Amino acid sequence: MRCEICGKKVIGRPLRVKIDGSVMQTCKDCSKFGKVQKEPPRSVRPRMPPRSFRVREPSYEVSEEFNTTIRMAREKKGWSREDLAKKIYEKASVINRVESGKMIPDIKLARKLENALNIQLLDKIEDEQPEENISSRKGGTTIGDIAHIKRN
Ligand SMILES: [Zn+2]
Repeated sequence: MRCEICGKKVIGRPLRVKIDGSVMQTCKDCSKFGKVQKEPPRSVRPRMPPRSFRVREPSYEVSEEFNTTIRMAREKKGWSREDLAKKIYEKASVINRVESGKMIPDIKLARKLENALNIQLLDKIEDEQPEENISSRKGGTTIGDIAHIKRN
């Protein structure tokens, strides 16, 4: 049995090491390159894990004017910061920080504010469409040019 990484003869049992999603049998020295698997070698047919795809969550962006939007919507409703805080189960200090722009609300908080105030804070960031970029990338087209073309 030779180490699948360095090719050296493995004395004793090789270690099953998970490197980059695939399990390799390696010597002790090379086992540090990955995560050592607990199962003894060859007792089970090595089950290749499905290549892990990171589930891409939709990205959201909090609008730049979030603090003004929140404050204006709150004042329109005649709520104090404490009133708003109570409605979304947050501390008034959180509202203070958000309205002063010192704190950017995370998605969870932004959603609560949106619902309580009937406003929109989150913009969904659409995935770029690479095909379009490739086809328009001719003769040194810059990103600025593309943005300009899209605007027309
Ligand atoms: Zn090795």
